[in-house]
Amino acid sequence: MPELPEVETVRRGLAPVMEGQVVARARVNRPDLRWPFPERMAERLTGARVLQLRRRSKYILADLSTDETLLIHLGMSGRMLVSGDPLGQFVHAHPMPEKHDHVVFDMENGARVTFNDPRRFGAMDLMPTQAAEAHPLLARIGPEPLGNAFTESHLVDRLKGRNMPVKSALLDQKIVAGLGNIYVCEALFRGGIHPARRCVRISAARISALVPIVRDVLDDAIAAGGSSLRDFRQADGELGYFQHSFDVYGREGEPCRAPGCTSTIERIVQSGRSSFFCPTCQR
Ligand SMILES: [Zn+2]
Repeated sequence: MPELPEVETVRRGLAPVMEGQVVARARVNRPDLRWPFPERMAERLTGARVLQLRRRSKYILADLSTDETLLIHLGMSGRMLVSGDPLGQFVHAHPMPEKHDHVVFDMENGARVTFNDPRRFGAMDLMPTQAAEAHPLLARIGPEPLGNAFTESHLVDRLKGRNMPVKSALLDQKIVAGLGNIYVCEALFRGGIHPARRCVRISAARISALVPIVRDVLDDAIAAGGSSLRDFRQADGELGYFQHSFDVYGREGEPCRAPGCTSTIERIVQSGRSSFFCPTCQR
C-alpha cells in the first residue's frame, strides 16, 4: 500500500506533465472505484487547466481552473502511469490500454496519465476548491508531518497522559496525517522507543525527539523515491513504487543494524498490524 513518501513521489512525477496544462480529454472507464465517481467527472475535467498539484496526507489534490479540486487516492494498488511526455522526461510511447485502466487524462501537451487500479480501493472525487479542506476524507486529519504545524509541543500535547501504545498514537491520523505502518516502525526504531510502550510512560523529551525523526524518516524515503523517478522515466512510466531499505520493517529475525547491537529484529502484532523492532535498542 502506498504510504506518504510513495504518494509524494507520484505527485512529484505528475507535476511536470500536469501542472499548468489543460486536460484535453478525460476518460472514465467505469462508474466507480471504492466509491462511485462524481457525476459527469469526465466532462468536468475535460478542458480544465491544472493549476497546481498538492498533497494532503496520502491524497493528491489537483486544483483546477474551474474552481474545482480533483482528489486522488491510490488506495491499496493504484498506479499512475505517464506516457508520451513531450518534454522527453518520459520517453516511452503510449502503452496499449490495459484492463484496469480506469481513468485516463490526455493532456494538451501530449502527455497521457493513466490511473490503473486492479483492486479498486482507490478513489477520486471532485469538490469546490474553497471547500477542499472540509472534504470528509480531509476534514479531521491532523497536521502534515513535514509541515510547520507538526511541532514538538503538538506531539507532546496530543500524547500526554494517553494510555495507548505509542505506535497506535502515531498511526492516528488525527494526531499526525499520513503516517502508516512502515514509517512508524522506522521512526520508533530511530527514536529507541518500543512500539508497545504506552504514551503515558514516555518522557516529553523522548516524544519531542520523535518529531525531527519522523521528518527524517519521511525525507529519506522521499529522496529514495526521487531517485527512483529518474529510473521510472526511463522504464515503463509507472510512478511511486520504489525499492527502499528499511532498518526494521520486514526484517524479522535479521540482525539489528545499530552499531554494536547484536540483537535480531522481532515482530509483534498490534491492532492486527505487524510491528518490527529491536528488543535491545527500543525500550
Ligand atoms: Zn538493536
